Amino acid sequence: MENYFYYDEKECQFIPVTYGLAERVIYTLSLWILVGAVVTAVTLSLLSFSVGSPAEIALKAENKVLYDQLHETRKSIEYLDQQIATIASMDNDIYRTMLGIDPISDDERQAGVGGADIYARFDAYSDPSSDLLRWTASNLEGIERRINIQKLSFEEIKANYNQNKELMRNIPAIRPVSGIILSGFGMRPHPVLGYKRMHEGVDFRARVGTPVYATGDGVVKSARRWRTYGLLLVIDHGHGYETRYAHLSSLADGIRPGVKVERGQIVARSGNSGVTSGPHLHYEVVRNGRPVDPMNYMFADLTPDEYVEYRRIADSMTMSMD
Ligand SMILES: [Zn+2]
Repeated sequence: MENYFYYDEKECQFIPVTYGLAERVIYTLSLWILVGAVVTAVTLSLLSFSVGSPAEIALKAENKVLYDQLHETRKSIEYLDQQIATIASMDNDIYRTMLGIDPISDDERQAGVGGADIYARFDAYSDPSSDLLRWTASNLEGIERRINIQKLSFEEIKANYNQNKELMRNIPAIRPVSGIILSGFGMRPHPVLGYKRMHEGVDFRARVGTPVYATGDGVVKSARRWRTYGLLLVIDHGHGYETRYAHLSSLADGIRPGVKVERGQIVARSGNSGVTSGPHLHYEVVRNGRPVDPMNYMFADLTPDEYVEYRRIADSMTMSMD
């Protein structure tokens, strides 16, 4: 504390001002309160500058919720996108191929995507928001367009189907057993022989005695023990299609060459005959003398979701049951 003086007129001199203890305490306290008030005021104004007023804080929180929601929407759009791609590939590889209609190319399916930037209105927002809004808007439009194309394709297929009902009844279109797929079509190591070779069918999990269904209308071509296939049933569906059911334990009553069968009819019981690594049903679809992927011939039975799941399992299994 500095020294202060007052002028004593009687003595004609400056006398130092002396303070009592109480005065000193009050002075020190007031000084600290003043400093505290100034520091608090400065801190608050700095805080409100960087964090915002209560109203701004509420808006920021709302903004964050909206932004997060937009992110969730993006995930849903990506999922929808995948679903549409699956439907499009089933459309091309299965329905259209089967009916002999030309597939729709990716370019045609994506028609109109791109071109002039009609989403420039989002540029006013911050970069992440603007990108997300732009992405969402353009992808939703893309999805709408592809769904419209898909709708037209299905209408074409429906018209074609009505003219080819006989063909559609004959083509294999369901699973031969209700079990899940253990191994898919393609190059696989053989479970008994050890080396890699072409697995010309699909293996279904099936306990001995599981009912086996004809997958399309047709005529029994043969039913006999044959090489590593064990008891093998072959159905001729006409139009160049044939299905084969292997490692059976028995045939259903009345199943012999020349007998007509219908889709969904029980034609045999699965088993473990021939060369296998356990009970299962080995199922083949042959088109014009060549084995094709049976996964593409279960369309009457599987939703796109199930198709994707079955495809994943079939492709991930490295070894066949044979
Ligand atoms: Zn097999």
